[in-house]
Amino acid sequence: MSASTITLFQENYGTTPEQMAFAPGRIEFIGNHTDYNGGLVMGAAVTEGITLAVRRREDQQLRFISDGLEGVAADLENLTPLSGSASWVNYPLGVIKILRECGMSMSVGCDIAITSTLPTGAGMSSSAAFELSTAYALAALYGFKSDSAGFAGICRQAENEFVGMPCGILDQGVSAFGKKNSLVSINCASEVYRTQAMPEGTHFWIFDSNEKHALVDSAYADRHRECHQALAVLQKALPDAKTLSDLTCEQVKAHAADLGDLLTRRALHITGENARVRSVEAALEQGDLPGVGAALYASHKSSRVNFENSTAALDALVAALAQQPAVYGARLTGGGFGGAVMAFTRADFDADAAAMVAAAYQAQCSREATVIHTQAGEGAHLL
Ligand code: ADP
Ligand code: MG
Repeated sequence: MSASTITLFQENYGTTPEQMAFAPGRIEFIGNHTDYNGGLVMGAAVTEGITLAVRRREDQQLRFISDGLEGVAADLENLTPLSGSASWVNYPLGVIKILRECGMSMSVGCDIAITSTLPTGAGMSSSAAFELSTAYALAALYGFKSDSAGFAGICRQAENEFVGMPCGILDQGVSAFGKKNSLVSINCASEVYRTQAMPEGTHFWIFDSNEKHALVDSAYADRHRECHQALAVLQKALPDAKTLSDLTCEQVKAHAADLGDLLTRRALHITGENARVRSVEAALEQGDLPGVGAALYASHKSSRVNFENSTAALDALVAALAQQPAVYGARLTGGGFGGAVMAFTRADFDADAAAMVAAAYQAQCSREATVIHTQAGEGAHLL
């Protein structure tokens, strides 16, 4: 993987990189859209990710190349978001801007090359992998110090402010804190991170629906806004609530008349997800894997009914997985509105079983699913 990144770097810049970093994508295990609502979420870094190579230049230019894409150049002293086919460099440009605001001194620009083993826009957070690999490699190159939580925060700020995506800390937090064979729990209100071993003999399978929703970003922003509207209504009666995650499902239901149907369902998704994260943590401690699976299915149902961030394609994949005896549970993973489904399985869920799920999906939705059998891997690090 890193050999091909070095080759890409050499072919484009005619020299060798000075620093290299890897950052993983992630699975959202459970806790959907809770991160920007001050709630609880569990994820896992995957073994797939982005490898980034970098070398200082002698002028003020920034140059970017990604396998299969046309190169882009920018000026270090004029960092503004780019549009159109060059907009993929907004992730590293944003990270560079925030790193400098945090005190990283860059007297010269750099050449950057990346390769990826992640599907793009599938809900496995290639964007956070891109941001974290940029932050780790550049911090090492220009001599800037931070820790995992610091880098996660810088990268989230870059995505929020420079890319314009109002995401919470899940993607960057899990990419930074991931650990081999472990789940990462985040309390997004206190930003406390905890890792917990995956139960022996359990596996992750990802089924990318290959459905790209044209309006994912605006749909995500709509849900972000609806959650804040629901909170504002609830705060009139419950002024101590700082976020939706300070409330229970019962409190939301008690104010359903003030909220109206739509905002009630949006709020119930968040309060329900927080309760399900707690129930999964307890079930994992007791080794109750069917209990974990039931919470995963319940989470997907709440996405479908309450939050309306599922799609017919994602529902078809979850329904096909539910037919398989070796699957504990399955749900959409990530923001939704297209993207991928995650299945939490026993060891005897195999390629044949995955092919049956993909065939059922193809028959129902006339589209091929991309299947990835993955494991929980290490968080961002220098190579
Ligand atoms: P996700 O994070 O779920 O993969 P996003 O829409 O948040 O989806 O981020 C995907 C975007 O990140 C792509 O549209 C592209 O701009 C950028 N990106 C991801 N991987 C690469 C890559 N290998 N090369 C160039 N840009 C990439
Ligand atoms: Mg993303």
